Amino acid sequence: VALEQNSHSCHIVAMSSETLNINKFRANLTAWYAKNERPLPWRLMWKKTKDPWVVWVSEIMLQQTVIKAVIPVYESFLRRYPSFQSFAKATNEEARQAVRGLGYYRRFDMLHRASIQLTAAKRKFPGSFDEWKELPGIGDYTASAIASITAGESCGVVDGNVERVLCRLLDLRVIASEPLYKKQFRVLMNELVSSGHPGELNQAVMELGQTICTPTSPSCTLCPVSKHCKSKKNSSQALNPMAKPKQQVIDVSLTAYCIVAGDQIGLIRRDENSRFLKGTLGFPMFESTLPLAAPKTKRPPSQSKAKKDVGYQALSEYRHAITKHRIRVRPFLVEADHSKPVTLKFTLKFATSQKTIAIEWHPLSKTEELLVSNLDRKALKQLNIYQSTTKKQTISNQTRL
Ligand code: SF4
Repeated sequence: VALEQNSHSCHIVAMSSETLNINKFRANLTAWYAKNERPLPWRLMWKKTKDPWVVWVSEIMLQQTVIKAVIPVYESFLRRYPSFQSFAKATNEEARQAVRGLGYYRRFDMLHRASIQLTAAKRKFPGSFDEWKELPGIGDYTASAIASITAGESCGVVDGNVERVLCRLLDLRVIASEPLYKKQFRVLMNELVSSGHPGELNQAVMELGQTICTPTSPSCTLCPVSKHCKSKKNSSQALNPMAKPKQQVIDVSLTAYCIVAGDQIGLIRRDENSRFLKGTLGFPMFESTLPLAAPKTKRPPSQSKAKKDVGYQALSEYRHAITKHRIRVRPFLVEADHSKPVTLKFTLKFATSQKTIAIEWHPLSKTEELLVSNLDRKALKQLNIYQSTTKKQTISNQTRL
C-alpha cells in the first residue's frame, strides 16, 4: 500500500505489491487461521447448521462485549430462541431477560424489532450486505461480517482489532478510529477479501488482532504475517495505532431505593426519558446533587417528608460504569408497611425531585431474575448482604438470650 502522508492527513492511495504482497499475505494468513482458529461457539454452530441466525446473534452480542462474557449468554439465548421467528414471539421483557448482564440493551431491542419485522413480512434472511443494512440495528460492520460469513460476499470488516493490525502492518502511526482512516481501511479490507473466502479472511484478521497482534506486547515471533509487517521492521509496534484522546469522564451520583414490603419488592419500569437503561425494570434511582461523600445520616434526603410507616436504612455504596459515565450509587432499603395491601399501586413522592413514580410489585424471591442490568443487580447485592447480616445478628441475639 502506498502512503501519502503530510502533517494534516494521511491517504492510502493504492494497493502496491511493493509494500504488501496481497496474494502472499492472504495465503499466509489463511494457512495460519486454518490451524489456529479458536473453536468459539458461534463458529461451531455456523459450521454445523449454516443458519445465519447463529451468526447474526453472535455479531450483535459481540458489539461492545468481550467474548468471555458473551459465550454463556449466547448459548442459553440460542437454546431459548433457536430462530428469529421464535425470538419475534418474545415480549420485550423476555427479550431483555434473555440477554441480561451484557449491557447496551438497545442493540437487543433492535434485534428483537428486526426479528418481528422479518417474521411479519414472512421473509427469510437478507441475502446481501445491502439487505442486512436495511434491518434495524445493523451498520456497516455487522452487515459486512454477516454477509461475508453467511453469503461469502466480498465485504471487509473494520473493527478495533482490524484497525490495529493494519496500522502496524503499514506503520501508519495514526488515530485509527478517525473516519478518514476507517474509510480507507474498509477499501483495504475489501481488497483483501476479494479473493478466497471472505468470511474466513475477515475473521482471520480479527483473530490475529485478538490473539497475536494484541494492543500491548504483540507476539511478533508467532505472527504469520510478520514478513509483511513494516512496524516489526521499524520496531514501531508501540507507536501503532496512535492513542485516542481520552474521552471525558462524566461523574454521576445516584440514590437508589430498594423498597421491600414483606415478601414483595417494588420496582419501576424506566421510560424513554430515563438517562440510563431505558425500558428496563429496576430500582427507583434518582440523580443526586449531594456531595459524593457517604452521608452521615442513615436517612435519605427525602425522609423528612416521608410517611411515618416507612423505614429507611442506608446500604453500602457501590460504583458502576455506563459508557463514559462513572456512576456512584447510594442505595437505601425502604421498608414499607407490611400490613398494607401490596396489590395496590404504590406511589412515593420524593421531595428532591417532585416526581411521582408508579411502583410495580413483584415477589422478593424473583428479584434476581427480574433485574437485567448490573446497575440494579449491584444494588440487590447490597440489599442481600444487609439482610443476611441483620438476620445473623438476630439469630445470635436470640442465642444469647
Ligand atoms: S509482526 Fe507483530 S506488529 Fe506486525 S502484524 Fe504481526 S504481531 Fe502485529
